[in-house]
Amino acid sequence: MSARIQRLPDHLVNQIAAGEVVERPAAALKELLENSIDAGASRVTVDLAEGGIRLIRVNDNGGGIAADDLALALDRHATSKIRSLDDLEHVGTLGFRGEGLASIAAISRLTLTSRPPGAEMAWQVLAQDGALHPPEPAAHAEGTTVEVADVYFNTPARRKFLKSPNTEYAHCEAAFERIALAHPEVEMTLRHNGKVSWRLARHTLAERVGQLLGNDFAASALSVDAQAAGLTLSGFAGSPTLGKSSRDAQYFFVNGRFVRDKLVNHAVRQAYHDVLHHDRHPSYALFLTLDPAAVDVNVHPTKVEVRFREAQAVHQFIFHAVNKALAASKAGADSPTEG
Ligand code: ADP
Ligand code: MG
Repeated sequence: MSARIQRLPDHLVNQIAAGEVVERPAAALKELLENSIDAGASRVTVDLAEGGIRLIRVNDNGGGIAADDLALALDRHATSKIRSLDDLEHVGTLGFRGEGLASIAAISRLTLTSRPPGAEMAWQVLAQDGALHPPEPAAHAEGTTVEVADVYFNTPARRKFLKSPNTEYAHCEAAFERIALAHPEVEMTLRHNGKVSWRLARHTLAERVGQLLGNDFAASALSVDAQAAGLTLSGFAGSPTLGKSSRDAQYFFVNGRFVRDKLVNHAVRQAYHDVLHHDRHPSYALFLTLDPAAVDVNVHPTKVEVRFREAQAVHQFIFHAVNKALAASKAGADSPTEG
């Protein structure tokens, strides 16, 4: 009575996996931006149409992909970033699973064009419905462009779950801002339907924080800079007087990766406990750096959750670092002569 077991075709496997990696256009954009950063780009330009549903195009001036590797880049579990389990434990790049491009290609019409520095010309591959068109020569400056058109065109059931272009755009913009905060040294542009939303020059962190979180935040933010036992926390904690009614200006990065983590939230929240009204939310842009071996970023395909080996110590450290910055500002406010 039982049905025979069959191996699923690759294309279907990719489409299923894509459901996890690419829940919406913003998730595809995040994968593409991370690839550009991993490729060492100093300039990244994003073009979106209709909230990224119609088009996501990311252009960078990074290290590019050799012509012979173009097709492989779109293969599942094909990556240039790790080679062994040991590498996985010390992963320093944002990507490493080798499934970003394969997943996106499975649910869109994807064009990958690349020219490594010094190469005579660029090559382009086009993926659609699991089929890869053979590489063709193309005109392109040094670097890479990935064009993703019609997200979920071939999976109507999923396409129905996409929200309005405005909502999808808001998610894309948030993904762009997270990468932009973590990489002030990269020149970044975001255009939506041909109109420029962000044009960010090469910045210092303080300048970029001012651009993205606003001048009010930057003017009153407290600088955080703490180090202990292999942990470093730097960045800016918003003045308690600027507490917001929403959580949307809370940025926490672990080794350059944006995370939304219970332990982290709790530690920061607790540091603000005595100075911020309980129904207000602090704004912050904080960067935790630690030995990659002390944190597992491989918990979730989109990697917003992490697992710390020494969770309690990390919690304590974040709490004390933020608390100290806030206490210093309070002391300053109490004694105006220090001015
Ligand atoms: P991962 O980032 O996990 O390695 P991806 O599917 O996102 O997997 O990318 C596969 C490979 O394609 C990468 O390992 C990298 O070698 C190459 N690649 C993708 N995007 C770019 C880019 N913008 N510039 C240079 N190489 C890229
Ligand atoms: Mg990737």
